[in-house]
Amino acid sequence: MPKYARVLVDDSAGKAFDYELPEAVAAVLQPGSRVRVPVRTRTALATVIELLDETDVPGVKLISEVVSAEPILSPLLLKLGAWMADYYCCSIEQAMKAVLPNVIRKAEVGHQTRLFARLAREVGEEEIEALKKKAPLQAAALAFLAEAGKPVAVAELTEKCDATHSVIQALVKKGLAPTETTQIDRDPHQSETFLHAGKLDMNPEQLAVFARVSAAIESSTGVPPAEPSATAGGTPAGPTGRMPVLRPLLLHGVTGSGKTEIYLQAISLVLERGQTAIMLVPEISLTPQTVERFKTRFAATQHEVAVLHSHLSEGERHDEWHRIRTGRARIVIGARSAIFAPCANLGLIVVDEEHENTYKQEETPRYHGRDIAVLRARMEGCAIVLGSATPSLESFHNAQLGKYELLRLTQRVDDKKMPFIRIMDMRMESKKKGAILSERLITAINDRLAKKEQTILFLNRRGFSTSLICEKCGHVCECPNCSVALTFHRAAGRVVCHICGHQAVAPGKCPECRDPGIKYSGTGTEKVEDIVGKCFPTAVVKRMDADAMTRKDAFRETLGAFKVGKIDILVGTQMIAKGLHFPNVTLVGIINADLSLHLPDFRAGERTFQLLTQVAGRCGRGDVEGEVFVQSFTPFSPSIQFARHHDFDGFWEQEIEFRRQWDYPPFSHLVLIVIRSQHQQRAEFSAQTLHRRLADALPPNTTLSEPAPAPLEKSHGNYRYHLMLRTHAIQRLSRHLAGVLEKLTFPEDVIVTVDVDAYQLL
Ligand code: ADP
Ligand code: ZN
Repeated sequence: MPKYARVLVDDSAGKAFDYELPEAVAAVLQPGSRVRVPVRTRTALATVIELLDETDVPGVKLISEVVSAEPILSPLLLKLGAWMADYYCCSIEQAMKAVLPNVIRKAEVGHQTRLFARLAREVGEEEIEALKKKAPLQAAALAFLAEAGKPVAVAELTEKCDATHSVIQALVKKGLAPTETTQIDRDPHQSETFLHAGKLDMNPEQLAVFARVSAAIESSTGVPPAEPSATAGGTPAGPTGRMPVLRPLLLHGVTGSGKTEIYLQAISLVLERGQTAIMLVPEISLTPQTVERFKTRFAATQHEVAVLHSHLSEGERHDEWHRIRTGRARIVIGARSAIFAPCANLGLIVVDEEHENTYKQEETPRYHGRDIAVLRARMEGCAIVLGSATPSLESFHNAQLGKYELLRLTQRVDDKKMPFIRIMDMRMESKKKGAILSERLITAINDRLAKKEQTILFLNRRGFSTSLICEKCGHVCECPNCSVALTFHRAAGRVVCHICGHQAVAPGKCPECRDPGIKYSGTGTEKVEDIVGKCFPTAVVKRMDADAMTRKDAFRETLGAFKVGKIDILVGTQMIAKGLHFPNVTLVGIINADLSLHLPDFRAGERTFQLLTQVAGRCGRGDVEGEVFVQSFTPFSPSIQFARHHDFDGFWEQEIEFRRQWDYPPFSHLVLIVIRSQHQQRAEFSAQTLHRRLADALPPNTTLSEPAPAPLEKSHGNYRYHLMLRTHAIQRLSRHLAGVLEKLTFPEDVIVTVDVDAYQLL
C-alpha cells in the first residue's frame, strides 16, 4: 500500500510536492485523483501525479481531503503534460492548464439536475376521465405523461398543462406520478434536430485511401506501446523524432476530393470496434456546417458527438468533458484543445486542415495541436490521419522521409473540375485611380448575377481604410500603444488598432498640423462591401468578418441565407476561406493576393500558397465549373503561380529548397524568445543580458541571432525584442533554456516568453 502521494498544486509554480496519505484513502487514490492539500496557511486543489512508498522529504503533511478519487486524468494524459513541459520549455503546471480544462480543475461547476415526473403505473382513459371531473389540471398533467410515454421535466409539464407545482405535488401524493431529480447535460446544440444522412459510395481513389486508413485502425492496439517514461532522461522523442510504431497517415487531397467522407466512414469503423475517435478542426472551420455533418451522420446509429470549442459556456464545457470521460460520447470534434479530450480506448485521431496555424496556441503552453496529436496517437497506439489540400512543409517533409505514409486524392468527387484560376495584374489596372476591382472581375460578377449564380470576394483585412496619412505634414495616425497604423471603421465612425483594440473617434483633420486634408487610404472589407454595393446596385451584398459577426447567431444566419441563395455576393475575411461548401458559388475574387506575401516571415510564401488554394477551393463545388480571379501587384511570384496551376508538388520543391538553404524548419527547430517591457531600454538591456547568458555553453548545432527589435516593435504599450534560435536538437535546447532562465532575474516589468517551434514571428 502506498504511503505518500506526489501532487501538483493548481496555480503553483509547477514543482511537485509530496504529501502523506491518510490511511483510509490510501487504497482509493490513483494518479489523476484530485485532492485538497495544506499549503502554508491555506489549502489548495491539487492533482495526484504519482503514488510513492517512501519519500525523502522530511516532515511531509497529510492530504486534507479527497475531492475525487476517481482519476480525472489518465496516466497517459499526465505523461503528455510532462512531455509538453519539457519540450515547450514551461512548467508542468502550465502544461497541465492545457490538458485539464479550468472548469474541471476548479470543481465548482457541477452537473445540472432537473426534476422529472413519470407515471407510476399504466393509467387508463377512464381513470383520467374520472379525475377530470374533480381535478381537471391533474388530469391534464396525467394525460400528458401518458401521451409522452417517458419521464417529463416538471418544468415542462407545468408549462404545457398550465398547472402549478401543487398540481404535480397532488399527483405525487396520490402515488400516480412520482418525481425524481436526474442529471442532465447542457447541450449547446439542443435546439437543433439532425436528420439522418447515410454513407456515400466512395469512388476508387477514396476507397484506396480508406483501405489504408482502415488497415491502420485495425492494427491500432488501444494499448500504448512500451516506451520510456516521460520524466527527465527518458523523454520520448518529439513529433519529428524517432520512427513511430504505427505510421501517421498524411492525406493530401485537393479541395472537394471527399476527405471528410473518408473521415466519417473511418470514425464509423472505429465505433464498430468499440473504440473512440477525436477529430480536430481549426477553430474557424468549426462551423455549424461541419458540426451538422457529423451529428447527422452519427444520429442514425445513436452515437453521441461531443463538440469542444472556445465559445462553450463553462457549464457546457463541463458537461461535454464528462460525457467524453464517461464514454457516453465516443466521438469528439473540436478545436486544438480537444486533443486533450479524456477519451479512453482511442482508435483514431483525425487532424483536418493540418497545415492551419490556428493549431498553434499563442499563449503558454505554446503547443501545436497537430504535433501533440501525433505524439498522443503514438502513446495510445492508435491510428492518426493528417489531412489537407495544402499540407504543411513540416508534414510533407516527414512523408518524404518515410516517417509518415503519404496518401493522395488527386480528383474532386464526381469529376468536378478544379476551378480555373486567372491572375489579374493590378499594375495595369491601378492607372484608374482607386480601382479595387479589375474590369474583368466586374464583368465576371455581372455574368454570375445574370445567371443567378453566387460570388465570394475575399480580402484578409477588416475595416474601411487601412491608413490615415496627412498629405500636408506626412503624419500617420498610429496606435499610441502599438507600432501599427490605425484602421478606419466607417460604420462605427472610429479608428481602431487591430493589435490592442485601442479606439478613438475618426479625426476630421490632421491631429498634428490641423490640416483638414487628411487622407484615408488602403482597402478593407468594409470598403469592398461599399464599392461592390455601388457597382452592382441590384445585387444583395453581405459582409462576413469579425466586425459584422459580433452577434452570437450572425455567422449561422448569414451562412444560412447564402446557402439558400438569398445573398448574391459574399464579401469576407478568412472567416469564409475555409471548409465552407456552397454548390452555387461559381466565382471567387481574391481582392489582394499580396497581403500575406510581404510579411517578414520565412513562411510568407507557404501561407500565401495555402490561402489562395483554400479560397479558390470554395468555388465550383456544384455542377458548374468555377472561376477564380486573383488580383495581384506581383503576379509572377512563385506562390501565386503555383497556386494558379494547382501545383502543390512544384511549390513544394521550390520552397523546400529555400528552407534547406537557410536551414529553416522543417530542417531545424526554431525557438523565438520575446523580451518585452514598457521601458524600451529595459527590454533592450534584458535582451542583451539574456543573449550573453545563452551564448555561453550553447548546445552544439545551435544558432543564436543577435537581439533585435521585433518587426512589431511595440504592442499593447510594450517594447519588444526578439532573440531567435535554431537547432537540430530541440529538447536539449529547451532544457538548456529552462536552466538559464531559472537562474536569471529580470527587472520587474520585463516579461520573457519562450516559443518553441514558433509560427508567429512579428
Ligand atoms: P473535402 O473534405 O476533401 O473538401 P468533402 O468530403 O467535403 O471533401 O466532399 C465534397 C462534397 O462531395 C461533399 O458535398 C460530399 O458530400 C461529396 N462527396 C464526398 N464523397 C462523395 C462520393 N463518394 N460520392 C458523392 N459525393 C461525395
Ligand atoms: Zn494598439
